[in-house]
Amino acid sequence: MNNLQTKHWIVDKKTDILTDNPQVKEAALWITNDEVVAFPTETVYGLGANALSDRAISKIFKAKGRPSDNPLIVHIATIEQLHNLVKGIPEKAKTLMDKFWPGPLTIVFEGDSSVSPRVTAGLKTVAIRMPDDPLALALIKEAGVPLAAPSANLSGKPSPTKAEHVLKDLTGKIAGVLDGGATGVGLESTVIDCTCNPPMILRPGGITKEQIEMVIGVVVVDKALLPNDETVTAHAPKSPGMKYTHYAPQAPFILVEGSPQFLQSLVEKEQKLGKKVAVLTTEENKHTYEADVVVACGYRRDLKTVAHHLYDSLRRFDDQDVDIIYGEAFPYSDVGEALMNRLTKAAGGQIIKEPTVTK
Ligand code: AMP
Ligand code: MG
Repeated sequence: MNNLQTKHWIVDKKTDILTDNPQVKEAALWITNDEVVAFPTETVYGLGANALSDRAISKIFKAKGRPSDNPLIVHIATIEQLHNLVKGIPEKAKTLMDKFWPGPLTIVFEGDSSVSPRVTAGLKTVAIRMPDDPLALALIKEAGVPLAAPSANLSGKPSPTKAEHVLKDLTGKIAGVLDGGATGVGLESTVIDCTCNPPMILRPGGITKEQIEMVIGVVVVDKALLPNDETVTAHAPKSPGMKYTHYAPQAPFILVEGSPQFLQSLVEKEQKLGKKVAVLTTEENKHTYEADVVVACGYRRDLKTVAHHLYDSLRRFDDQDVDIIYGEAFPYSDVGEALMNRLTKAAGGQIIKEPTVTK
């Protein structure tokens, strides 16, 4: 599997015609031949294979080094494709589909018995979404089958938001990558389980809890995701993937809740020990730091821009050969919820809080 000639198909989503597009057709042909192909979605790049072929699915797990107990999301281009994959469509799921599909919302349904246990990791449920990216939809339509697709990175690494990230991780291991430029949202989809009532958010992502509650009323959040909850380690997440360390750069990454001055003091301590120290910050605060590497990742006043740049910024530290990275924390509201979920995981739970000063 390490000697495939990984193809790089560049497509301009704005100007190229996607129907009958030769690059899309070639990528789809590999899919129908049970090979795996990376493609852009509005969230991150996915690593797609025919969801109906066990042989193809096993190649996804092998290429990524993904644990086999971590199920895959099935990507569809039409509602007709959904009917063959699920037992039924609950009313609230229907409302969510009408409002947010195509888009960054994955819905967990009761799975049809025909869905391969390789896709669902043996669960009775199946996770499905319709991506909001013309190239992704064109590929699924051309292949004529739903695509099981996790993020197109090596397991444990930050998800890919550019084709070059995919090529760095998976060259030689996959048939090719459809390159549609940088992805938009930059964080993975929100996963919501609609087999229970009220529905339960299993992974925060591109669509916020507030947006969901506007259309279907109260939803709950899987306890394992709640910050500062002593049950965090005791409670197994309902979404198997949430228990793994993810998104991590090579150097240790530590999240800092506190002022930029406090973070700078941590930098200086490490520099005195001869370490090469990096800081992950935002455009607003970048001039506050004197570190060996300072990466500004979007604007704090618009957390969507931070989400968009996050994984590319985390990957940049790997090229700089740093010893340790300190990152600013963000508020747990709106997109901040998903951002902090990913950052906490990238940090493997290592968070330093600034001691509160009592006057
Ligand atoms: P990734 O494909 O890497 O973005 O991860 C997909 C996420 O969806 C993982 O956290 C999986 O555990 C989760 N997932 C996929 N299928 C199911 C399912 N049937 N039930 C619960 N979570 C799921
Ligand atoms: Mg992933």
